[in-house]
Amino acid sequence: MTQAEIARSTGLSAATVSNIVRGLAEVGVFDVGPTSSTGRRGRIVRLSRSRGVALGIDFGHSHLRVAVGDAGDHILAEEVVPLEVDASATDGCDLATRLLERLLDGAGVARSEVVGAGIGIPGPIDAATGAVGSSVIVPGWDGIRPAEEMGRRLGVPVLVDNDANLGALGESLYGAARGRGDAAYIKVATGVGAGLIIGGQIYRGEGGTAGEIGHVTIDEQGPVCRCGNRGCLETFAGAPFLLELLRHSHGGDLTFARLIELAAHGDAGCCRVIADAGRYIGVAVANLCNLLNPGMVVVGGDLAGLGDLLLGPIRATVGRQAIPSATRRVEIVNGTLGARAEILGALVVAFSAATPLLVAGLPETSPVNSKVATR
Ligand SMILES: [Zn+2]
Repeated sequence: MTQAEIARSTGLSAATVSNIVRGLAEVGVFDVGPTSSTGRRGRIVRLSRSRGVALGIDFGHSHLRVAVGDAGDHILAEEVVPLEVDASATDGCDLATRLLERLLDGAGVARSEVVGAGIGIPGPIDAATGAVGSSVIVPGWDGIRPAEEMGRRLGVPVLVDNDANLGALGESLYGAARGRGDAAYIKVATGVGAGLIIGGQIYRGEGGTAGEIGHVTIDEQGPVCRCGNRGCLETFAGAPFLLELLRHSHGGDLTFARLIELAAHGDAGCCRVIADAGRYIGVAVANLCNLLNPGMVVVGGDLAGLGDLLLGPIRATVGRQAIPSATRRVEIVNGTLGARAEILGALVVAFSAATPLLVAGLPETSPVNSKVATR
């Protein structure tokens, strides 16, 4: 952020921000970028590269992405592999560890430089225990505490969050929703999830399940969902349902990746099922707009790469079904970070696992510089 943006978002005066930034830059916490045309307050303030590196781990339902990033927002190394993540938590954690060790070696990063790790999981996380909070959304992870599992393997502090929450964090810090206080991030991939930003903060709810938009009821008489309800959004917009729709026309061995590729090249049947999925997602987003009145809805995940093929029907349905005062101001846009939104969010929480003082806010009573200098 620039110093001016820090002042705006904290409510501190520009002079106070300037003093704090100077103090933290002197003790090596911040790097302050070169002066731009907008002057001193236009300079970008980043966590210093000397603060070490963090590890990001993004478990999707069907992929694993890992990255090594520094505190200056640079991704030093990254890898993504296909993985049936739902099947086994320990296999997933073992693979993530092996991939990260290879990335660290490849990037020439010493283990002592690693300060923390952040993990995204495609299911609700119980805020109190850190356990994956559902036996049915990600079956192989029932009761597993991913932060403990990975902490034991990596030997660094680890924080875990729902993947859509991390995507929301990524897009709100670096992407389409930058500077937005009230926004929603909708991840449309194998499943559908949402990360909600309310008053500039990720909203997790009482037990960590806020944003499970994939399990909003679309049709009470619809197919039984893996959550036990009938006619959830995921039973109309999730990958298994879309592939089933195309089984007669495109064959039983069609994959989700191939479906997206065919839709991008204008295959009529694939375009149709994507458009219909967009309509159903639009129903849930219209309800979300009525409830939360976000200024922006950012669409991410695998299907977001199809652009207006998906967004057009979402926008049209929201326009038709949400109350006019909720739709008037809401912008429904593609994320700008693509498949990296979640991993960037994971790197952000990794640094907050390592240096909570810097992220949780500065203590009112303690002199900031001496606090930081003792770390
Ligand atoms: Zn459901």
